[in-house]
Amino acid sequence: MSTFSIALHGGAGTILRSSVTEEKEKAYHSALMAALTVGETILKDGGTAIDAVLQTIVSLEDCPLFNAGKGSVFTADGLHEMDASVMRGEDLNAGAVAGIQLLKNPILLAKEIMENSDHVMLSGKGAEEFAKQRQLAFETEEYFFDEYRFQQLREAIHEGRVQLDHSTSTENKKFGTVGAVAKDIHGNLAAGTSTGGMTNKKFNRIGDSPVIGSGTYANNATCAVSCTGHGEYFLRAVVAYDISCLMEYKGLTLQDACNVVVMDKLVKMGGEGGLIATDAVGNLCLPFNSDGMYRGWVEKGTEKKSCYL
Ligand code: ASP
Repeated sequence: MSTFSIALHGGAGTILRSSVTEEKEKAYHSALMAALTVGETILKDGGTAIDAVLQTIVSLEDCPLFNAGKGSVFTADGLHEMDASVMRGEDLNAGAVAGIQLLKNPILLAKEIMENSDHVMLSGKGAEEFAKQRQLAFETEEYFFDEYRFQQLREAIHEGRVQLDHSTSTENKKFGTVGAVAKDIHGNLAAGTSTGGMTNKKFNRIGDSPVIGSGTYANNATCAVSCTGHGEYFLRAVVAYDISCLMEYKGLTLQDACNVVVMDKLVKMGGEGGLIATDAVGNLCLPFNSDGMYRGWVEKGTEKKSCYL
């Protein structure tokens, strides 16, 4: 029987050291470790990669520190529109949701869409209706309200910009999306991503996170990938599938494929961010071209590690 691997991210970007207190750093660290432990425990007990990915992301969605679920950033209308997607490497099945409001765990809706609908992607009101049919939990506006995030919206509106991070200035950028990838002991891969998108977003903007092939991709023959960064660039570069293609059609290793896409192609386009990925045997790769990326991993059943910006 083979070993398992898991990696997670809590967003990539730049954060000014001076704006992070020791207390906040500790909070990020323990939230990453707690989420990692959830996934690790499932995989250690012989559970599936898809379950590990889903439950790891639920843990991050329930934490207000990250831009997903409870911690989602505000839209221009002072609302929260969340995007999420999940993919299974064994049969290339996938589910995704865009622009969902007030749902506690968008990643669980992505799973329901994958397993219990005839579709891959649902959005807005229809997605909400389907979530109700599947008896998923909804929350109130108060649950998603966060004073710090609201302040960010006020500043973004005041300065007339759409902010791709949940910080207060362009030198202090952070993409707080969350994601996980895993390889289980049965040899299956899975990937998932969840986000609130960008502060002050308008017109039902949708980024890369719910788009299969851009923000998320999994194929047992190649790799599982979850991205974070400036979604518009990740969409145009079809990042997650591009990495899989470089492995499948050009025979590149995961590491080499990640280097080509994250450190070369995206950089040339001006696309800031990073990703987490596992190959079919559980080798992990967590590249980023931004200053940092909140991340954690357990590679091939060995020591648990987590890092932050
Ligand atoms: N990629 C996400 C988006 O553009 C943002 C992020 O990674 O934080 O919606």
